[in-house]
Amino acid sequence: MEWTERPLGEIIIHELKRMVGWGKPLPPDPWPEELSKAVYGPDARYVCHHCFTPQDGCGWFCPECGAATGPYNNWTAYIYIFSTGEIYRAGTSARIRLSPFVTGTYIFMSIFDYGIFAPVYWFRLHRNLKRCQQLDLLDEDDGTDGDATAESGEDVPPPASRQ
Ligand SMILES: [Zn+2]
Repeated sequence: MEWTERPLGEIIIHELKRMVGWGKPLPPDPWPEELSKAVYGPDARYVCHHCFTPQDGCGWFCPECGAATGPYNNWTAYIYIFSTGEIYRAGTSARIRLSPFVTGTYIFMSIFDYGIFAPVYWFRLHRNLKRCQQLDLLDEDDGTDGDATAESGEDVPPPASRQ
């Protein structure tokens, strides 16, 4: 009997670690080592997550597209509003991944941010989700996997001209 030979706390911690998966060996890094050096190296540069324009690292917004790109935008009072605005705007106009988690998160968070106006946001979210669903069906018919930004209606250059 294990529980008579070991302290109860040790058994509980062992079982919790087993349930959560602590102590398991990490899976191998799927990326080549050169890529990790390029991303984390001292000469690596920040780029805009929206248009891939190189950033100097001290601004709050991308000078090309206006996206919130500052390193602490999400933590800065007043500036975080622009970050959350980008997220909500993506829910109503960009091509987003269709999943119950994403939809539920948009609905749940919009209750707190929009209050009594949340149903207006839900209507626009629902309209965008239907549009994304139709685009996914079109991609399945074409046999392509689609481009998340090319069909979003946003002014994003094709990947070949992003330099
Ligand atoms: Zn940008």
